[in-house]
Amino acid sequence: PALIRVEDVTRTYTNRGQAVPALRGVSLAVPEGQRFGIVGESGSGKSTLLRIIAGLDRATSGRVTSAGVDLSPAPSGGARSESGPTAPRDLGDLRAALQFVFQDPYGSLDPRMTVGDIVAEPLLNPANVRDGGPRTAAARRDAVREMLDAVGLPLDATERYPHQFSGGQRQRIAIARALVCRPRILVADEPVSALDVSVRRQVLDLLARLADEHALTLLLVSHDLGVVRHVADHVAVMHDGLIVEQGPTAQVYDD
Ligand code: ADP
Ligand code: ADP
Repeated sequence: PALIRVEDVTRTYTNRGQAVPALRGVSLAVPEGQRFGIVGESGSGKSTLLRIIAGLDRATSGRVTSAGVDLSPAPSGGARSESGPTAPRDLGDLRAALQFVFQDPYGSLDPRMTVGDIVAEPLLNPANVRDGGPRTAAARRDAVREMLDAVGLPLDATERYPHQFSGGQRQRIAIARALVCRPRILVADEPVSALDVSVRRQVLDLLARLADEHALTLLLVSHDLGVVRHVADHVAVMHDGLIVEQGPTAQVYDD
């Protein structure tokens, strides 16, 4: 059974009265534990697809299920406003099951918070965490230290601020913050595009290793063929709102 299932999904934006088809009929199925890569040039629809799978945007038509949560649009025909985020009622289960790592490890970390507080913050809301997570301050502190260790940051990082770390280290902080929630699915949107070339491979190796150790289903999006090839075991190639090819990584890259 697929942990993520997308069936014939379309998403049409309206931009100054013009219909912009961002997705034109996309289907994929990601089994639990797979490292699924989505590659395609800018504007091919990758972010739109990710946002729909994460419940941040709604398909115009088709069916979408993530971690057992049905994110499909309401049946067409009724008077319905422009697609928007899924109703919060549906998203409770998804928030605890799916976490994000974004391209920009600068923008996503609050510069006024210590790294310890940044990584602990999602634990303050049990809805973010599978099984509710640690309930006491001491247990949260232990969970944060365990995660910082897992991503290769020194334990004294907890008392420091994001600007005291390099780009690669900041992305490690963002990964720790996502994984402290014990998600089933980690969505990584261009996770190394903003990093120096010299540290990209380290961060990708870390993602691959953590995916194995935590039995994560990894959804990795990049415009960079090399990045996807390095991490993914299954690849979908997007072009102009469609998946034009998909299969095991070795097979796709052989063509
Ligand atoms: P990618 O992530 O591959 O760069 P996107 O999913 O961001 O592609 O965009 C796919 C297409 O949809 C592009 O033509 C883009 O301009 C358009 N698009 C994306 N988001 C919006 C939006 N919020 N409003 C209007 N058009 C959008
Ligand atoms: P990406 O880095 O994935 O290519 P962009 O930088 O193109 O994404 O877009 C950043 C944000 O702006 C996204 O949330 C996307 O949905 C939105 N967006 C992209 N294209 C448009 C557009 N033509 N009109 C409005 N919003 C857009």
